[in-house]
Amino acid sequence: DGALMSELSRPSRMMLLVNPQSGKGQALTLYNNHIQRMLNEAGVTHTLVITERQNHARELVKEADLSQWDALVIMSGDGLLFEVINGLLERPDWEEAVRTPLGILPSGSGNALAASIHHYSGASAVYSEELLVSCGFLLCQRLVARMDLVSIHLSSSPRLFSFLSLAWGFVADVDIESEKYRYAGAARFTVGTLVRLASLRVYKGKLAYLPAPEDYSEEEALGNNMTLHCNNQARPSRDSPCQNTFHNSCNSNNSLKVRRTESTPSRSAPKAPAGPPDSLLLPLDQPLPSDWVVVQEEDFVLMLAMYQSNLAEDLLAAPDATPDDGVIHLFYVRAGISRTALLKLFLAMEKGAHLATNCQHLVHAKVRALRLEPSSPKGVITVDGEVVEYGPLQAEVHRGLGRLITG
Ligand code: ADP
Ligand code: MG
Repeated sequence: DGALMSELSRPSRMMLLVNPQSGKGQALTLYNNHIQRMLNEAGVTHTLVITERQNHARELVKEADLSQWDALVIMSGDGLLFEVINGLLERPDWEEAVRTPLGILPSGSGNALAASIHHYSGASAVYSEELLVSCGFLLCQRLVARMDLVSIHLSSSPRLFSFLSLAWGFVADVDIESEKYRYAGAARFTVGTLVRLASLRVYKGKLAYLPAPEDYSEEEALGNNMTLHCNNQARPSRDSPCQNTFHNSCNSNNSLKVRRTESTPSRSAPKAPAGPPDSLLLPLDQPLPSDWVVVQEEDFVLMLAMYQSNLAEDLLAAPDATPDDGVIHLFYVRAGISRTALLKLFLAMEKGAHLATNCQHLVHAKVRALRLEPSSPKGVITVDGEVVEYGPLQAEVHRGLGRLITG
């Protein structure tokens, strides 16, 4: 198999997008001190691209000749990866583009995906520069997994793709209010949580979801194992980093043996300009399909949908999430919870123990799609930690649509 062999022996070429303003503004120093030598010693050829402004990365990725790159790696917080993923899905060749392996090196104040990748490696939690070094090592191993992406429809903005989280209420407010504590780095969320607890309030709205089938994860994991094991190289140790390039065979559609529930044509949402069509969603102004679950409560303290394990470096919100389980881990907290109980939940979340606290106000459901209709006229909704248009929205998970270097 000559073509495959030449693929495997070709040195990897990564575009490394660095946001110098991310986090405490130290990204370039962190790159020089921790990353440059590590990548060079591991034989990872990379080209540094320093982002100059918001949406710079999105535009670059939208126009890039992707045949020049084996991977796009970002060194920033989660916000820059959000741009890269949406840039890829805006391309006319999105179907191929979205299979470009993506990597992340944490230098932001919100490094949830990096913390998730570290969590998936099985190691116990580490923070800031230690997390960066761990992600550097994992990146050097160059093993690619599939990653779920969630398409999000807002009432008047174009469709978005999200890789991490969707939040409304307490969590979204903390995320945004804590921007002013960003000099504190990742600690900004802790500070923000305490401040917001003091002015705890209720958020009104309607929430509904399509449950994921009970056996969904297990059943489809069989198909996934095949793909994950198609890389039959021994895992490199930290002393002898892998010299192989990405296993592009992992990226071919042929290996995606994912069983899907066929949807009826009437369910298809209007076709978006790029990206896969949504098969589970009806237009926002139409009633919900009959197999959806409507949450009875309409008074909430928070709604949080997670598709990776970590909400922040020190918040393990969905401990059993995997990069491509095809599940949106939906959490909501009903109104009536005391400040003390809410604080206990967040403290427990540091170790991923919040579900074990048996808090009567916390509900967890594994879902494939959801609809949220906030009824208060003003408020905050975040997608991957970024503020989006406030109003009704719905979301659907696209299992394994993206590619992530997990090591
Ligand atoms: P952090 O976790 O520190 O917020 P992010 O990766 O979320 O890090 O980056 C925040 C935002 O900074 C992103 O939305 C990105 O568009 C923007 N950005 C990228 N490059 C620059 C730059 N050179 N100057 C200012 N903002 C930038
Ligand atoms: Mg950010």
